[in-house]
Amino acid sequence: MSIPTNLQMVDLKGQYLKIKPEVDAAIQEVIDQTAFIKGKQVGQFERELATFLGVKHVIGCANGTDALQLALMALGLKPGDEVIAPDFTFIATVEVVALLGLKPVLVDVNLDDFTISVDAFRKAITPITKAIIPVHLFGQCANMEAIIDIANEHGIAVVEDVAQATGATYYFSNGESAKAGTMGTIGCTSFFPSKNLGCFGDGGALFTNDDRLAEEIRSIANHGMRIRYHHDSIGVNSRLDTIQAAILSIKLKHLDAYNLARQEAAMLYDSLFRECKKIIVPQRVNWSNHIFHQYTLRLVDIERKHLIEKLKEKGIPAMVYYPIPLHKQKAFEPYVDSDTAKEYPNSIMLSEIVLSLPIHTELTQEVQHYIAENVLSLL
Ligand SMILES: *Cc1c(COP(=O)(O)O)cnc(C)c1O
Repeated sequence: MSIPTNLQMVDLKGQYLKIKPEVDAAIQEVIDQTAFIKGKQVGQFERELATFLGVKHVIGCANGTDALQLALMALGLKPGDEVIAPDFTFIATVEVVALLGLKPVLVDVNLDDFTISVDAFRKAITPITKAIIPVHLFGQCANMEAIIDIANEHGIAVVEDVAQATGATYYFSNGESAKAGTMGTIGCTSFFPSKNLGCFGDGGALFTNDDRLAEEIRSIANHGMRIRYHHDSIGVNSRLDTIQAAILSIKLKHLDAYNLARQEAAMLYDSLFRECKKIIVPQRVNWSNHIFHQYTLRLVDIERKHLIEKLKEKGIPAMVYYPIPLHKQKAFEPYVDSDTAKEYPNSIMLSEIVLSLPIHTELTQEVQHYIAENVLSLL
């Protein structure tokens, strides 16, 4: 096959073109209404997503980072309270903890599935631990059953970071199932364009089954206001735009199909790499499905930098999510004891050996064969 042109990690254009008439009409409708802020499409999308997820409340906000911040504010945590989070994730998960004057406590992750280690979580609990933020990294849920059990035992709130796993399903050992983000105290997601459910700009949302928390979140996101111009607490301004909500309503109808397309692409990659001893394909856990926000390989004895450069020459993008564990980030120096690096062996190892290949809803089998053949020929 000739080199495909313009190969990308995500193909937002291709996805848009398939739903263009619907999306364009929805955007035009908002413009015609000129209800750019708090138009009826926002509430409508919130209700549709709540139904899809099987959760009582969905509250839109400006982005996923704000969702996490709003969640921690709504829980009423006090400066110095400890919040446990994985060391191997996108910075946003932990940034808001520090921003609010809370103490981020970073713990190691599992080598196999990249999510927070339950043992490390248990060992990190102190009398002032008030919350844990499990991240459903790359599209697969963390071990929520164990996490929720431990959290309940210690009175710790569970804030799920669902930014990479909107629509993923968790399976409890009693046979019940639940959507990612609806199991903990509050779920927080992002509608950044490249996420599994993405809009055409920034957007985010919180999920909860708790009426009081839902009201608190809505108030904080709206300048601490319940009744207009009566401000009960210090809040922020964080809203989901009407245009984004209108687009999201359309994309939500396709979310299951989108996630299925990603799963099928992942299965094809798996089969193409099956014979190769130098590549470990993403492991699937038995407590969650995997909706492949990323398809992330672990490389065994491979010079990753060299491989990435050679792939680039063939027009193949490959990304490292994430190259530096959070405990090694300069911004987190004040929160990490100097000798604790030894407590993150898995996170450190993963930062050195992971490699994510293009995965999205428009990937063709032909392109996947091209990518896999090139990867294999370069090892
Ligand atoms: C994308 C992402 C966020 C933040 O979302 P934004 O909408 O970009 O603010 C938070 N956590 C994780 C794990 C993410 O991938």
